[in-house]
Amino acid sequence: MPLHESLIDVKPFSMRLHVHGDLDFFLGPRTRGGQVERRLSEKTSVKDVIESCGIPHPEVDLILVNGKAVNFAYAVTADAEIELYPPGIQYSDFREKRLQATIVTEFVADGHLGKLVRDLRLLGIDVAYDRVAKDRQLVEIASRNNRALLTRDRRLLMHAAVQHGYYLRSQNSLEQTIEVLRRFDLGSILSPFSRCLRCNALLEPTEKEKVISQLEPLTKIYYEEFRRCTGCGQVYWLGSHFTKLQKRLEEIRANLGS
Ligand SMILES: [Zn+2]
Repeated sequence: MPLHESLIDVKPFSMRLHVHGDLDFFLGPRTRGGQVERRLSEKTSVKDVIESCGIPHPEVDLILVNGKAVNFAYAVTADAEIELYPPGIQYSDFREKRLQATIVTEFVADGHLGKLVRDLRLLGIDVAYDRVAKDRQLVEIASRNNRALLTRDRRLLMHAAVQHGYYLRSQNSLEQTIEVLRRFDLGSILSPFSRCLRCNALLEPTEKEKVISQLEPLTKIYYEEFRRCTGCGQVYWLGSHFTKLQKRLEEIRANLGS
C-alpha cells in the first residue's frame, strides 16, 4: 500500500499567486503588488494554497492555474502561476467557471454583527442571527440552508462546509451594510419595513382591534395602521421609532448611491 504517496511522488515545487480586485485586502502588509510566492513539497489542493495566504475561499470566484480555470479541489503538484479573482469582476471568458453563486439572497450573520443585521432586516433582507450562536452552529446553518455567512472571522469563513460567505472589511455597521448590498448585488430586491427586526420573520398588516391590547395609551389614540410580525407577534406602527428607521434607510440609500 503506497503510504504517503504524495510525499514520495512529488518533488518540491513553487507557485506564484496573483490576486485581483480587492483580494489583496487579505494578504499581509509586506506583500507587494498582490503577489505571493509559495513553496511546497507535497500535493496540495488549491483551496488550501489560497487559504494558507489568508484568503477565505468564499471570497474567490475564479481560479486560473497556468491559464486554465479550476475548482477548489484541484491538486497543485508542480510549479504554477495562479490567478485569483473576486466576485463582481467582469470577465468575458470563463463565465461558466465561476465558483460563487451569482444569486444569494439569504444570509446568516455571526454574533458580533447585531447592527448590520438590523440594517439588513430593515431593508427586508432575510438574515438568520443568534447573538450567542457557536461557530459550528453558524457553519451548519450556512451549509444546511444555503445561506451566505457574514463574518469578521476569517477562520470561520475558511471552513470547508461554508459555500458562500463574505468577510466584512469595515468595522462600521453602515459601511458593512453597503458592502453586503454591493457584494451580493441586493439593490433590486430591497423591501423596507417588510421584516421583523427582532426575529427576521415577515410582517403582515393587521387590524387595530386585533393588537389594541398590546398598545400604549397614546399609540391607541394616534395611530391607525399596524403591522404584526408573523413570527414573534411584535407590533409595528408609524411612531417615533419609524422616523428613526426611515432616517437610517435614507442614510443607507445615500451611501449606496455614492
Ligand atoms: Zn418578529
